[in-house]
Amino acid sequence: PARYTNWTEPPYTTGIPEKYYNTKYRANAVIIMLARNSDVDGAESSITQLEARFNAQFGYPYVFLNDVPFTEEFKRRMRAVVSTSAEFGLVPPEHWNQPEWINEEKASKARDKMGAKHVPFGTSVSYRNMCRFYSGFFFRHALLLQYQYYWRVEPDVQFSCDIQFDPFLFMQGEDKKYGFTISLPDDRTTIRTLRKNVRGTVSVYFSSRMSAPTSEPERAAEFVNKNPDLVSPDNGVDMLLDTHKSGKKEYNRCHFWSNFEIGDFDLWRGEPYMKFFEFLDSRGGFYYERWGDAPVHTFGGKCAPSDWEFFSQLPAALLFARKDQVHFFNEIGYQHGEIQHCPVGSAFERGRCTCSQATSVDRTSLSCLNRYDALFVSRP
Ligand code: GDP
Ligand code: MN
Repeated sequence: PARYTNWTEPPYTTGIPEKYYNTKYRANAVIIMLARNSDVDGAESSITQLEARFNAQFGYPYVFLNDVPFTEEFKRRMRAVVSTSAEFGLVPPEHWNQPEWINEEKASKARDKMGAKHVPFGTSVSYRNMCRFYSGFFFRHALLLQYQYYWRVEPDVQFSCDIQFDPFLFMQGEDKKYGFTISLPDDRTTIRTLRKNVRGTVSVYFSSRMSAPTSEPERAAEFVNKNPDLVSPDNGVDMLLDTHKSGKKEYNRCHFWSNFEIGDFDLWRGEPYMKFFEFLDSRGGFYYERWGDAPVHTFGGKCAPSDWEFFSQLPAALLFARKDQVHFFNEIGYQHGEIQHCPVGSAFERGRCTCSQATSVDRTSLSCLNRYDALFVSRP
């Protein structure tokens, strides 16, 4: 991706109020990780870093979830690296498996088609299960019901700065619902083609009336139009719409990268999101992958393709919360795969970060941070 040459520091350097540093109390929060037994090395690595950078000081409990029972080896190794408690839960089959009412023939055809196009995880059922689980079920797991806030962690990620404040108390004290570190248009490599293909097909979902929906994304918009009372009046959906010279607004494919999330479970447990998820799920798109042909054919991205991710997690944060309840955690240096966010401003020194600001995704045209930014400040 192109580097911004005249990149200016975003206005996040004011950071976290001092009262959330050196806190005496804990929030009602949990660190969660969904993992396979085979993810044990990556899980150990992520947790070890999170402990060193944050949790050894703050003392939050962990819940690990898996669709099959964790091995003794997995549990032993996690218990060896956490400074607090770890619980190991099984995802109930009805929260995981492809539902009975999905037409398997149709679903398998969709998988074959994506496989032929070399879409990542295109042929995988378990990946789809995982995506659906994280969209609609994780927050209802029995081991998580007692908690209000969560931090989602994945195996094999990097935390590159000391986190010396309590992000959960910050969320609670500042009335935040959803926190992210990285936001991108959904496909990492083919953004140009992707834009071209999307143009004209997927436009202005959330601000216009859809009279005759013809595709799944439009039906998602239809949901919004049918349930205006469920949508937050001061929502941040504008982050997803780019205005073109003609004045026409287009969906820009931005989404928050959900492998990192610090969130308030209530956002998902509340009626608006539950209804939204059930609406989407009832369309079968998690398995049929047909949220409209242009996106489906074009986006070879995540969660086969990440349209569902967009229509499930991201708009929920932007639709059902106020825009000021969606928070960018500049201070949290974070890396997943090739992509990393490295803090700007004094947060870098204060966090004793070990990352490169120069290669931080925020500084590239790949990042959607400028759209988030624009929700709050207008910059030239
Ligand atoms: P990516 O980030 O989109 O490449 O997907 P990942 O492979 O990292 O999967 C996302 C998260 O779900 C990670 O925490 C994985 O450990 C977990 N995950 C993915 N597939 C499965 C699965 O079949 N079973 C279990 N238990 N966890 C899974
Ligand atoms: Mn991952």
